[in-house]
Amino acid sequence: MAFEGLSEKLNAAFKKLRGKGRLTEADVREGMREVRLALLEADVSYKVVKDFVAQVTDRCVGADVLDSLTPGQQIVKIVNEELTALMGGSNARLTFASKGPTIVMMVGLQGAGKTTNGAKLAGLMRRQFGKRPLLVACDVYRPAAINQLQVVGKQLDIPVFEMGQADPVHIAEEAVKYARDHGNDMVFLDTAGRLHIDEALMDELKAIKAAVKPTEILLVVDAMTGQDAVNAASAFDEALGIDGVLLTKLDGDARGGAALSIRAATGKPIKFVGTGEKLDMIELFHPERMASRILGMGDMLTFIEKAEQQYDEKQAKKLEEKLRKNRLTLTDYLDQMEQLQNMGDLSQIAGMLPGNLGKQLDASQIDEKQMAHTKAIILSMTPLERENPQILNASRKRRIAAGCGLQVVDVNRLLKSFEMLQQLTKSMSKGRFRGIPGMGGM
Ligand code: GDP
Repeated sequence: MAFEGLSEKLNAAFKKLRGKGRLTEADVREGMREVRLALLEADVSYKVVKDFVAQVTDRCVGADVLDSLTPGQQIVKIVNEELTALMGGSNARLTFASKGPTIVMMVGLQGAGKTTNGAKLAGLMRRQFGKRPLLVACDVYRPAAINQLQVVGKQLDIPVFEMGQADPVHIAEEAVKYARDHGNDMVFLDTAGRLHIDEALMDELKAIKAAVKPTEILLVVDAMTGQDAVNAASAFDEALGIDGVLLTKLDGDARGGAALSIRAATGKPIKFVGTGEKLDMIELFHPERMASRILGMGDMLTFIEKAEQQYDEKQAKKLEEKLRKNRLTLTDYLDQMEQLQNMGDLSQIAGMLPGNLGKQLDASQIDEKQMAHTKAIILSMTPLERENPQILNASRKRRIAAGCGLQVVDVNRLLKSFEMLQQLTKSMSKGRFRGIPGMGGM
């Protein structure tokens, strides 16, 4: 997952600061030296790091921080705010056209993830705003590109407009007409990429831009290429003018340098992030949530949004009722685990939970095999036991383990996860997250 190294190093630096009751300016400067190193190691560009650390230090050495009762926590709060600001502060969104279809021109180097993420984005717009998107094959140089777009279009059930190897400018114009005539209110132009930025590529993109006047030019860059992604963003913006960035492959980017530098280096916001190869693995980019994730405070909002997509209202009500009566049973537990599995990649889900909870909810505990074990254990229990887990004493546990061919430790592990889930759902049902470890004291 992204930012792992950075999270760890920043938290180590903050731990030292929090450990001291009183802080001096020298303590802060020493802490900031570690923050600076952590950011440089995360491949954040040098100038961005320099400005960031200067700004944070300025705010942290003020009397109101050093003389406060909890200087360590104040510093974490300041770093959180400044990280958020660094990534653009508020959320940047796609602009929709006020008249006619919204035209989104996807541009970027070859392999950045244009084709896949254009389709993912079209799917997201349909899910979130009920849009009726059209995908357009303007990359006529790679014969496989048209086919690839058709494949992803088919998987998502989104129509694809193509005219073979015709002139890309002409294709774009015809596609917009087609969209108007067929009630497609969003058009995604999948343009050609090159291995390097060259004049021919830019000229073609400029011609398409002049012809169809896109509502939005979205640059797709690969997070794993770090500072090269930042340089590509600057180059495309200078030559063509871009409105925002879709940062792909964040799932594979252990460092996070591009995510942290692009806004400061180019002035253009990251609007979306790609978080995996599957066609629903795209998220709106939220600077404040990303900052919280980096600081190990989790991203409960994204977690809850994902959960909300899975839980229907009736189920949620039933569950809430049980929680209120403190009657969550192991049968419910099995249902819950299945829901969690439906929410997507479990290691990504665990990464959204704050501190300890994320670590406890080890994805390995809920993989396919483990799910089968969980089911077997619960099915070996009597209905009375499933409804009243507190009666499970040592001899009952031994009987259950023998019944499903597993060990007592497996039964105990399951009961521990069950307790954890009770704790989590309790906090969620309150609508506040005070009860969740790791969220307190921030
Ligand atoms: P294009 O040449 O810019 O159109 O790039 P493609 O859309 O063909 O993507 C290149 C490769 O990156 C494909 O194998 C995609 O599956 C993969 N890819 C795209 N987005 C993501 C992402 O967010 N995460 C991961 N892990 N892979 C991605």
